[in-house]
Amino acid sequence: MPAGRYAPSPSGELHLGNLRTGMLAWLFARASGRDLLLRFEDLDLDRTVAGAETQQSEDLHAMGLTFDALDGAPLIRQSERMEIYAAAIARLQQDGLAYECFCSRREIREAARAPHAPTGTYPGTCRDLSEDQRVHRRAERPAALRLRAPRSAAGTAEQFSVEDIVLGRITTEVDDFVIQRNDGAPAYNLAVVVDDHLTGVDQVVRGDDLASSTPNQAYLRGLLYGWHAAAEVQYAHVPLVLNTEGQRLAKRDGAVTRAALQEQGIDAAALRDLLLVSLGLPAGPLAQALESFDPTALPADPWVFQPPGS
Ligand code: GLU
Repeated sequence: MPAGRYAPSPSGELHLGNLRTGMLAWLFARASGRDLLLRFEDLDLDRTVAGAETQQSEDLHAMGLTFDALDGAPLIRQSERMEIYAAAIARLQQDGLAYECFCSRREIREAARAPHAPTGTYPGTCRDLSEDQRVHRRAERPAALRLRAPRSAAGTAEQFSVEDIVLGRITTEVDDFVIQRNDGAPAYNLAVVVDDHLTGVDQVVRGDDLASSTPNQAYLRGLLYGWHAAAEVQYAHVPLVLNTEGQRLAKRDGAVTRAALQEQGIDAAALRDLLLVSLGLPAGPLAQALESFDPTALPADPWVFQPPGS
């Protein structure tokens, strides 16, 4: 069954921006007859907060969002899928598509890059280390693993594009991005690709702050699972919610979570309606809003929210 997914990180309470993205993931999936999977991205143990998963599930269900089971399981937890990620990483290594990187963040920031290389891309410092150099560096610091992205004969990176329902074509250079962190944990960009593919996800709806990593992810999906299947994936990077200063909404902005809004007299149904209206949809049950939902008519601008009582 083709599926969409909503993939929050259980690092605290969901705020209005997260809930709005979740609602959009539901609308996109249901409007196209897809299942919708709930996946908790809890690989980063330092950020995972006890109880957040339960609370996030309750918030989503309270607004009327429904999710589908996968092989009988009501949700997916990345921390339970370590062997699956390890197998994908091992396959890339066997195919010569991964290399050890010993750089610190600072070294990467300060390294010289090719002219016009996009900021944030890896400068390639460890790409061509000799085995002797690696042995030496291993003694100093544990290695992360990076994807050995394609390069032209002249050493330039390859461009890769995806079509996005909201943003149009997104093109970036394929970077030597991290696939395994230097603490041994699989990297976000790898886990997302592996999960999406192996759980039948062919529709990715998420905040537009993640749009720039999408060509890298789509490239990795093609490499691991075939270009044809990768090209079929539908992407929708949806606008964020901003505070009145134009910054991305955050919990410090006041009453922006379900619990805090409830205290201001806004219950789950009113919260659902607030979000629906912000999307130009009629207030009321989600099934009714679905009838008016047009994925191609989504507002492309962020929604500015002023928390009640602020
Ligand atoms: N876990 C990510 C977040 O909460 C979303 C990742 C994704 O949808 O691919 O921002």
